[in-house]
Amino acid sequence: MDFSSKLLENAVYEVSQLPGIGKRTALRLVLHLLKQPEQRTENLSTSLVDLRSKIQFCENCHNISDTTICEICANPKRDDAVVCVVEDIRDVMAIENTGQFRGKYHVLGGKISPMEGIGPQNLKIGTLVDKVKKGVIKELIFALSSTMEGDTTNFYIYRQIEGIAVKTSTIARGIAVGDELEYADEVTLGRSILNRVPFEGSFRQD
Ligand SMILES: [Zn+2]
Repeated sequence: MDFSSKLLENAVYEVSQLPGIGKRTALRLVLHLLKQPEQRTENLSTSLVDLRSKIQFCENCHNISDTTICEICANPKRDDAVVCVVEDIRDVMAIENTGQFRGKYHVLGGKISPMEGIGPQNLKIGTLVDKVKKGVIKELIFALSSTMEGDTTNFYIYRQIEGIAVKTSTIARGIAVGDELEYADEVTLGRSILNRVPFEGSFRQD
């Protein structure tokens, strides 16, 4: 692409670095911004800079938060004893939308994936195991997507806490294998949390 302006070229380049946005779409978006009042672009830039500089991760559950302890963890009406293990904030949002879960979360920050070079040490598994060892948690609900990576991660955590008196369950799979949680409709997801099944027996023991 030949640009008549270096400023335009830079802006298009930065926007095109976002996933799913090619150079042509980036150009269209940047030209759109140029037609809008200047304030719009300022708001956009400020919100992104603020996001990066001010965002925090909850010290307890590792969810994205504006405070050191997130709203869910700080809520005394929520049950500390039931913890739902999820991959990221999108799963928290999906489960919260069902209105069926009154426990707390633990956000791993991903799934074990040897293909992508993600091992247990790259995820927030250690802090989860520590919490379980402290004995406050009575039930862990594995709510990772039922992909091979999700199953591997569930099983890894399960092995880490084996022998500790904590109930483990997994969300019932009305959700087809391979579906990501965030795409499950609220009714199905809500039902699968209520109808969760014991983790033992949910996996094959070869
Ligand atoms: Zn939290």
